[in-house]
Amino acid sequence: MRNALGLMLASVGAAVVIAAVWFWTSSPRADLAVAATVSAPPAERIAATASAKSIPTFELVEVTATVPAKPPVPPQPKTACANPDALGVSRVVEIDTTGGPGFGFAHFKQLDFLTDKEIVLTFDDGPWPVNTPSVLKALADECTKAVFFPIGKHATYHPEILKQVAAAGHSVGAHTWSHANLNAKKMNEQQARDEIEKGFSAVKLALGAAPSPFFRFPQLQHGPAAMAYLGSRNVAIFSCDVDSFDFKAKDATQVINSVLTKLEKSGKAIILMHDFQKHTAEALPLLLRRLKAGGYKVVHMKAKAPLQTLAEYDEALVKDMKLPVASARPVNNVVQTVTE
Ligand SMILES: [Zn+2]
Repeated sequence: MRNALGLMLASVGAAVVIAAVWFWTSSPRADLAVAATVSAPPAERIAATASAKSIPTFELVEVTATVPAKPPVPPQPKTACANPDALGVSRVVEIDTTGGPGFGFAHFKQLDFLTDKEIVLTFDDGPWPVNTPSVLKALADECTKAVFFPIGKHATYHPEILKQVAAAGHSVGAHTWSHANLNAKKMNEQQARDEIEKGFSAVKLALGAAPSPFFRFPQLQHGPAAMAYLGSRNVAIFSCDVDSFDFKAKDATQVINSVLTKLEKSGKAIILMHDFQKHTAEALPLLLRRLKAGGYKVVHMKAKAPLQTLAEYDEALVKDMKLPVASARPVNNVVQTVTE
């Protein structure tokens, strides 16, 4: 009797052990993946997360002889860059936007974080068909990253393009709702706030995810009240060191020459360009090659935390748009006068 009871308890015990081992080996290893991600420096996070999946099950392997073995996860390549001579990203910096820090020596001289030959690529006024995708391709071909400041209205016209920008790993901030001059005399404080918040909400609506708390004033017109407001919202303000004036360029060559000439003088820079501009999109493949040849190194600026958009603006925007984003086409695309 005692023997039979002992045998039964032993069997139950063994079943519990097998069940526990089965649960351990077959459950997702999110705990391990998260731990590896947090402890790794930013540039190595992707690789660390990928390798965490293939962490061996150490001593438990011996006990799991009766459990069917799972096929090993193939090791992920450390980098997806197919171009061995790419411009790449030399450094990733994480920005704590508390209090609304300002970047770009054209207006803000406090935060001097770039070293000689370091550059930050920034693009305004998108997303726009053809030009933004061309810019994205040029950046991808060089395995490099940039910061984008889309216009809210444009984000609602072409959310699918803005999604591609974010999916490629670039930082996406905002550049107001309608590209209004926030320093204009007719612009009151409330209107300026509306432009800022609606712009961010439009980017969030297009992306389906919160934008970075990065903002650039249209025409670099820094209104003092709007500056204070952005500070209270913990949004970083981006001016620039090198303004390409690409919107005035007559062709791609002028864009390239403008950037390289100004960069030679400053030695390092946050460079302002426009993914909205055709000549910039055309110039970018050669410009990035020339930057590489000139020994310049790209620094990628990432936000420490995403921006919390304001619910009232998110809701108002959805209501305003009436139609789902996917159907939002410009009126002259939908309505055509055929006889008059
Ligand atoms: Zn602009």
